[in-house]
Amino acid sequence: MIESRGLELLNVLDAEIHDLAKRRKTIELGLAKGIESNELVLDFQPIEDLKTGRICGLEALVRWTHPELGRIMPSEFIGVAEDSGLIDALGDWVIESSSKKVLELHQQGHMLWCAVNCSAGQLLNPEFPAKAQQTIRNAGLDSKWIEFEVTESAAIDDMTRTVDALKKLKAQGSQIAMDDFGTGYASLNYLRQLPVDVLKIDKSFVMDLLEDKNSHMIVKAVIDLAHALGLIVHAEGIETAAQRESLIQMGCDRLQGYWFSRPMDMDSLKNWLNETGRQ
Ligand code: C2E
Ligand code: MG
Ligand code: MG
Repeated sequence: MIESRGLELLNVLDAEIHDLAKRRKTIELGLAKGIESNELVLDFQPIEDLKTGRICGLEALVRWTHPELGRIMPSEFIGVAEDSGLIDALGDWVIESSSKKVLELHQQGHMLWCAVNCSAGQLLNPEFPAKAQQTIRNAGLDSKWIEFEVTESAAIDDMTRTVDALKKLKAQGSQIAMDDFGTGYASLNYLRQLPVDVLKIDKSFVMDLLEDKNSHMIVKAVIDLAHALGLIVHAEGIETAAQRESLIQMGCDRLQGYWFSRPMDMDSLKNWLNETGRQ
């Protein structure tokens, strides 16, 4: 009896692994076509400036509407794009598309900047900064309206080339944010070496802020340290009014999270901005 239950479980596991592998293969095979044929879409999540209480910017987050699998989140396909060399094409599309959407917003009176996420592979391509600038300009926008977000892991691969790329992006007028701060294993060292303007505290710290004394102390220390270094502090993953209040008390500069808005498509964002009048 026990043996047959064990076998049953093994069969279920086997089927699940098989399904996952099949899904990953489908994603791998479809990604190039997905990028070319406009199956990617961007959602935008508003960012609040805590000094004014107004929406000051957005983060562009890519999604893929796959013809068979439906909507796929970036956690499933960014890794595939990085491994298969498609990240350059995907990243170019994100910059171009974000720039066009930001211009559209400006034309309607919403003067917001937009942050785009960057993978290590993009930064290691020596042509990336100039190409990014060209793409932003071709869309009719100035580089100062596009912020680039990099993670610590992006910098690990090749510090010299990463620093070089970030310096160029900065010289072109963009701001640089270090994303998911605190989750890498050498955060402080990266902070010392990378030319960043903004530090984004990872949502895992924010989540425990009110329940866990240590998380609270870490967030407070990170905010003070970042301010001492002249950086803007941005907290992500704010889901409650109490978390927001606590971050305001600690002197955080910017907030992003489900508390005031989930990421949404451009039409919903425009309606949201007009309805809330928070910009
Ligand atoms: P990220 O850059 O740290 O983006 C923030 C993620 O947190 C987003 O997940 C967002 O939907 C989610 N989030 C925002 N507010 C809250 C909240 O209050 N609570 C919780 N639990 N989550 C919240 P998403 O859209 O699934 O993106 C996941 C990651 O995929 C991003 O993390 C980023 O690293 C990567 N990614 C997204 N778009 C791109 C892109 O265009 N290029 C690259 N290279 N990576 C991207
Ligand atoms: Mg990000
Ligand atoms: Mg993040």
